[in-house]
Amino acid sequence: MIQTDALPAFNDNYLWLLQDADSRRCAVVDPGDAAPVLAWLQAHPGWQLSDILVTHHHFDHVGGVAELKQLTGARVYGPATEKIPERDIGLAGDETIKVLGLDFQVIAVPGHTLGHIAYYQAEQGLLFCGDTLFAAGCGRLFEGTPQQMHASLQRLAALPEATQVYCTHEYTLSNLRFAHAVEPGNPQVEARLQQVSAWRETGRISLPSTIALEKASNPFLRTAEPEVVASAERNDGTRYDDAQDVFASLRAWKDRF
Ligand code: ZN
Ligand code: FE
Repeated sequence: MIQTDALPAFNDNYLWLLQDADSRRCAVVDPGDAAPVLAWLQAHPGWQLSDILVTHHHFDHVGGVAELKQLTGARVYGPATEKIPERDIGLAGDETIKVLGLDFQVIAVPGHTLGHIAYYQAEQGLLFCGDTLFAAGCGRLFEGTPQQMHASLQRLAALPEATQVYCTHEYTLSNLRFAHAVEPGNPQVEARLQQVSAWRETGRISLPSTIALEKASNPFLRTAEPEVVASAERNDGTRYDDAQDVFASLRAWKDRF
């Protein structure tokens, strides 16, 4: 059984540390900073960092990779088409890799960046999705099209409902404020907004989420819901006939929100 803990970094990033107590090996996802990982290793003598999983090339996800590689010799996985420091194995999607003795499926999720990938561990129901799917939101479109991001999110939404969603930023509260503006009549958004507000007041992390929770309260996965469509139409003064256009409308709205 793998244990997954958040190592906070920068303002609102989480580096996810996966630990296998039997082998005393660990892996880290998106180490934008080496320091929190090195501090953890120092506090846990006998543990070895064996793998570094990178979802995309942005600095807050790769800034610590070179130092960690140099100090630990960990194997570095990352998108084949992006510039990833010290990458050992380039991934494009649809591969399966072995990490801490478990199979992780690689899923191509272009949109935030073009080479963005997610890592999914089926038996334990773990999804590491970087800046693609956020709790109650999604990443900005820096490189991809709304169509690409919409398809990527649909692909993640099709994973089992109990899948735990480990995204990389603590954006949940501001995302829920937007979700509430889009769907003021959704009781699940309302309830989650209150819960996460209370959590954040005491500094509690709002992650991981689950696919079920996201399908119930994330407007970017709800682009076919009548209230979401109506909100996008009212906001833009246009009629929308398909979910991709609703998605593009919501993403542009959130950028200005
Ligand atoms: Zn990013
Ligand atoms: Fe990021």
